[in-house]
Amino acid sequence: MTALTLTNVNKSFGDVHVLKDINIEVEDGEFVVFVGPSGCGKSTLLRVIAGLEDATSGEVRIGGEMVNATPPSRRGIAMVFQSYALYPHLNVRKNMSLALKQEKQSKAVIEERVGKASKMLNLEDYLDRYPSELSGGQRQRVAIGRAIVREPKLFLFDEPLSNLDAALRMNTRLEIANLHDALAASMIYVTHDQTEAMTLADKIVVLRDGRVEQIGSPMELYNNPANQFVAGFLGSPA
Ligand code: ADP
Ligand code: MG
Repeated sequence: MTALTLTNVNKSFGDVHVLKDINIEVEDGEFVVFVGPSGCGKSTLLRVIAGLEDATSGEVRIGGEMVNATPPSRRGIAMVFQSYALYPHLNVRKNMSLALKQEKQSKAVIEERVGKASKMLNLEDYLDRYPSELSGGQRQRVAIGRAIVREPKLFLFDEPLSNLDAALRMNTRLEIANLHDALAASMIYVTHDQTEAMTLADKIVVLRDGRVEQIGSPMELYNNPANQFVAGFLGSPA
């Protein structure tokens, strides 16, 4: 099964054409990394997939179903942002349960899912703390926990580690790789960090100026970059 299919997706803001004929497939369980320079349209593409922006034209399919008109909350997707966007007045437990309460899940289900996610993320001892009482790495783990409890089929990560220092970035990167194994969900992960792309990805999509420049496994892109631009991002020093 295919988790996500984008067919000739375009997005314009007024007369600014940001996404240009994007064609991408994500298989079930696949870890796909989007890379490309700042301003090339990575966040816009994630927002179109999530339904936070409408595609100007083209088709977005999730699990085979056309979702162009489906609201974000019904797409089976959870998104983790670079800025953690935690609610400062809610403790960790409540930050993690909020979306489930809005979905009207039972208390038992909420407790079970928050328990499971906090165990996976080593947050069990922090459930009663407030965001201001957490480190940057812990806050980012809470943000990931909020996505996990919703049990999405597809996770979208928008440069989730870029606010963390180098050591924490490596730890959190390993955690995300473990989560991908444990959850058997599909993940799309945006980064401009070459190490993250090379170590996490089953498949890398290189974007440039709103277009797909090349798609391939890390080794394919490293050994056979389609052009100078891809080589500059990921290729071997030729
Ligand atoms: P990236 O995440 O790769 O840095 P973005 O998707 O944030 O890139 O932005 C791609 C382009 O789209 C930029 O030129 C940006 O200015 C433009 N853009 C993004 N959102 C909007 C918007 N709401 N209105 C107008 N232009 C936008
Ligand atoms: Mg961005």
